[in-house]
Amino acid sequence: MPASNTATPAKLREAYRAVQDNIAEAATRSGRQPEDVVLVAVTKYAAMDQVRQLADLGHMDFGESQAQQLQQRVPQLEEYLGRRKTLGNASSKNDTPPDRVRWHMIGHLQRNKVKQTVPLVQLVHSVDSLRLAEELHGYGAKHDLDIDVLLQVNISGEATKTGIVPPAIIHLLEQIDSMMHLRCRGLMTMAPHHDNPEDCRPVFRQLRELFEDCKACEWTTDHFNVLSMGMTHDYEVAIEEGANVVRVGRALFGDAEA
Ligand SMILES: *Cc1c(COP(=O)(O)O)cnc(C)c1O
Repeated sequence: MPASNTATPAKLREAYRAVQDNIAEAATRSGRQPEDVVLVAVTKYAAMDQVRQLADLGHMDFGESQAQQLQQRVPQLEEYLGRRKTLGNASSKNDTPPDRVRWHMIGHLQRNKVKQTVPLVQLVHSVDSLRLAEELHGYGAKHDLDIDVLLQVNISGEATKTGIVPPAIIHLLEQIDSMMHLRCRGLMTMAPHHDNPEDCRPVFRQLRELFEDCKACEWTTDHFNVLSMGMTHDYEVAIEEGANVVRVGRALFGDAEA
């Protein structure tokens, strides 16, 4: 669904600045630097023009939740950035679009979509089963690639949420440890919706504690350093609780339902 077509570059710029400011302030409140938190701009409700505009503002990290949309957007943005580079930046003097961007797969990944998806992304946030881990590892082995992944955790135990339940995490890390082409970089979660973002805090705190347990266990290495939690509604609370990656869509691009 494209976002409302009233969205303008000026509005996007303003929204981007506001989100960056909020991230910086939440990072400071949690005793960290603004640059310690990576903003993944979630483009699932954005129009392609908005994605290009955000790249024009210098933004590097983009996230998609559907394999099919990812397959369309990665080459579209690449082509645009390539064109910008050859033609030079005629329109704006201040913002430098990055030479290349990083894409994140943040949604449920079906095993039969691994082949199309892995070559397009830097990080898969949503490993939610041993079978998916094995499929990814098989792809990595076949193409001699090391694939970076996060484990998606279902903290709240809601039946409607995908993800691995906390007691199963350490065992899965042990299994992944023997997969030479899979590198587990950390954990991801989606908090259940609450009207008050403060009510998400316990979920984020639990994921942070689980993250520390995993770091201390024998099946992880120094590469295990990514904690991906927080979306439009709750990213500031997530950062206060230790997130170093937030995935934000509507606060940047507007709400498709609006
Ligand atoms: C859609 C989505 C987001 C972003 O949600 P917003 O509320 O638009 O910020 C983040 N993470 C995942 C996994 C998503 O599917």
